[in-house]
Amino acid sequence: MKPAPFGYRRPGSLAEALTAYADASDAKIGAGGQSLIPLLSMRLASVAELIDINGIEELSRITVSEDGVRFGATVRHSDLLAHEQVAAVQPMIPAALHHVAHATIRNRGTTVGSIVHADASGEMPTVFALLDGRLTVQSVRGTRELAAPELFIGPLETSLAADEIATEVFLPALAPRHGVAFDEIARRHGDYALVGVGAVVGLDADGAIASVRAGYVSVSEVPTVVDLGEPLVGHRGEITDDALRAAGELALSHLEPEADIHATAHYRAQLVRVLTGRVVRAAYDDAVARSNRSEGTPSNARS
Ligand SMILES: Cc1cc2nc3c(=O)[nH]c(=O)nc-3n(C[C@H](O)[C@H](O)[C@H](O)COP(=O)(O)OP(=O)(O)OC[C@H]3O[C@@H](n4cnc5c(N)ncnc54)[C@H](O)[C@@H]3O)c2cc1C
Repeated sequence: MKPAPFGYRRPGSLAEALTAYADASDAKIGAGGQSLIPLLSMRLASVAELIDINGIEELSRITVSEDGVRFGATVRHSDLLAHEQVAAVQPMIPAALHHVAHATIRNRGTTVGSIVHADASGEMPTVFALLDGRLTVQSVRGTRELAAPELFIGPLETSLAADEIATEVFLPALAPRHGVAFDEIARRHGDYALVGVGAVVGLDADGAIASVRAGYVSVSEVPTVVDLGEPLVGHRGEITDDALRAAGELALSHLEPEADIHATAHYRAQLVRVLTGRVVRAAYDDAVARSNRSEGTPSNARS
């Protein structure tokens, strides 16, 4: 199918884009087009004008520092995935991006676009929430920064005003003595996840678990992060199956697995249980390995 006719602009600077967006009525920002163009083509959405931001050089940058990773609104999923320093500073980014769609879509789709598209079945909105990311949005009226709870206000719905452009995202670096893991089940690799889980585990100075947070994909209306510390904090060495089962049940009490043509609600709930255990265990092992590498101490990981 073809989209209904729409106007098209390709500004060469952010200032020009902000003015054009403020002056337009019924306009949308076009980034990678991997969600917007199919929606327009299937006539599930329509716009009077598309403002294409791909000609704005200043939105194409990736900056990595010891504090974290900052990337602009036209940075592709594949740019971040291929960036070695990004992986070194925040390994959750490639761990999750690896599961986003197929290579051809990652080559066009932008990570900022994915976050502001706010699909709770997308990996990167959940990663943004899990890592306490910050989104910078600009309009002719000024600039503001949003965290996940302020940004995600409903299914596929954000708090961005009609004249605001998301210009960049900042994701903090992985803290010392922390580890990450991400896994998901999809019908085929590259499909949207039936359920996806990312976890960040922190250790105290003695190597015991100090914090566990997990982010969930495809089991809630908005990207959801659950604090799983209660059954797990204080564990050292092998994490017991009972503790992991309790973590899975705790997660489920915050989630709303639903049935659709791909999976029953019961199956999704079971995936939450299984993936929570698997991912928390892997993130714990990662935290132990990273701590041992940085401190040069003998491993206290499970054998
Ligand atoms: C076959 C297929 C499979 C896919 N599988 C997955 C998957 O498994 N996991 C996953 O997470 N995603 C998946 N995607 C979606 C993909 O990741 C998209 O790239 C992403 O969701 C949107 O990014 P985009 O740059 O393409 O945004 P666009 O399609 O250009 O825009 C999406 C929406 O965000 C708005 N927008 C974009 N950028 C800005 C901005 N800077 N400021 C304000 N508004 C903005 C647009 O106006 C539009 O409403 C898939 C897509 C396809 C076609």
